Amino acid sequence: MSKSKGYAALTARAALVPYTFERREPRAHDVVIEIKYCGICHTDIHQVRSEWNDYLPESIFPMVPGHEIAGVVTATGSGVTKYKVGDKVGVGCFVDSCRTCPECKSGLEQYCTVHTVWTYNARDHEGVPTCGGYSDRIVVDENYVLRMPQALPLDACAPLLCAGITLYSPLRYWQAGPGKKVAIVGLGGLGHMGVKLTHALGAEVTVLSQSLKKQADGKRLGADHFYATSDPETFARLKGSFDLVINTVSAEIDWNQYLALLKVGGTMVLVGLPEKNIPVGAFALTGARRTLAGSQIGGIRETQEMLDFCGKHGITCDVEVIPIQKINEAYERVLKSDVRYRFVIDMASL
Ligand code: NAP
Ligand code: ZN
Ligand code: ZN
Repeated sequence: MSKSKGYAALTARAALVPYTFERREPRAHDVVIEIKYCGICHTDIHQVRSEWNDYLPESIFPMVPGHEIAGVVTATGSGVTKYKVGDKVGVGCFVDSCRTCPECKSGLEQYCTVHTVWTYNARDHEGVPTCGGYSDRIVVDENYVLRMPQALPLDACAPLLCAGITLYSPLRYWQAGPGKKVAIVGLGGLGHMGVKLTHALGAEVTVLSQSLKKQADGKRLGADHFYATSDPETFARLKGSFDLVINTVSAEIDWNQYLALLKVGGTMVLVGLPEKNIPVGAFALTGARRTLAGSQIGGIRETQEMLDFCGKHGITCDVEVIPIQKINEAYERVLKSDVRYRFVIDMASL
């Protein structure tokens, strides 16, 4: 074991404070990564505040959050073949899985039916709690490490590892492309990546935001249309318009209103994860053969595909880089939708 430095919430809902903990020594297939940058995902806030207690087996404190990890390889185990010292690499929301179930075998490790080992607030195969990316180093099996786009800045690519793949995966699965009309609900960390990726995939993209405050940004990011959901006219005007609606909102909203925006046969995909269940009217679905679906990040193979796609198309996240000492302030600003569009911690500040 060796010492690692980071920031942790010592108890549920506590502010994050400096924290020292142990990381395992690298095993044969492990890569040691010096973390340069880590994005702040809204999930980190839900987890630190134990907002998903109805859905998770446990919340483990002290908790070192962070699953948008970008860094450089500093050491490799004797059996590592995919990476070498100096490589620019990333780690996303999980660091291992069972590797043998049908989902793992088909590259859908995020849906492993046996045991996905999440990057933090989880236990590894030995039962040891995992610690995330608000820290100086991480030790991860090479099969769960990603190669970052070589020509793009590492800080602006860190959020691709969660926000990027969480939008890329459903956009691909539900075939967003030329001729398709896609709406992205919520222009936050996930939503702004949704706009960029949908635009790059060639579909027509509409942003549905609470107000028109971010309209100019939305257009700059690639949106064809932008509407405020606080204006009731929006729902009347856009009724039956979309093939695909991707809902990134982290709070409770009236899903029936959004389902009504779908064409006949359209699909609304939930990626936002509010704390409470939300009722859905059967008629909102049956009346137009609509589908309500969900999607969770992406597997290792697809995450690499997304990173390569972003490398090829020059797609990065719009980030505000902060020192780690500003973490608690950043959380408050995320909760107020006051971030353009992802906070990224510069780990040199640790
Ligand atoms: P974020 O940056 O806070 O963005 C969420 C956006 O939702 C806000 O920017 C805001 O957009 C909108 N919003 C917030 N409160 C709202 C309200 N009361 N009513 C309507 N709209 C509201 O968060 P994020 O990091 O993108 O994450 C979004 C959600 O996705 C979180 O619940 C997170 O846990 C979840 N998540 C899921 C996955 C997955 O795999 N499924 C992966 C990562 C994150 P406007 O200002 O434009 O209205
Ligand atoms: Zn995330
Ligand atoms: Zn599995």
